[in-house]
Amino acid sequence: MAEVQAAASVEINDAMFCSAHVKEVCEDCNFDGREENDAFFGYDPMDRDPIEAPNVTQNKEGVYQCKKHGSAGCNQCFGWKKQITRARTAAKKAGRK
Ligand SMILES: [Zn+2]
Ligand SMILES: [Zn+2]
Repeated sequence: MAEVQAAASVEINDAMFCSAHVKEVCEDCNFDGREENDAFFGYDPMDRDPIEAPNVTQNKEGVYQCKKHGSAGCNQCFGWKKQITRARTAAKKAGRK
């Protein structure tokens, strides 16, 4: 049996994304960071739409930062809690759980 490779993930301003595409849920990487991200922000995991990362670049140390402001902790571009809250509200309205 082929060994399943652990999905390589990156952390951007405390949220997890797949490292290859910077997506919270990625079929190509077999990666789903929703559970971890929801838990981090104090929520129970649910079937919500993934949050989306803006354009990012990596600095010399390999730290991801937003392209727009060049900041690794940019709350404007990396406002995950707001995005997660919105996605959860939308999912609840759509009757998902
Ligand atoms: Zn990916
Ligand atoms: Zn920014």
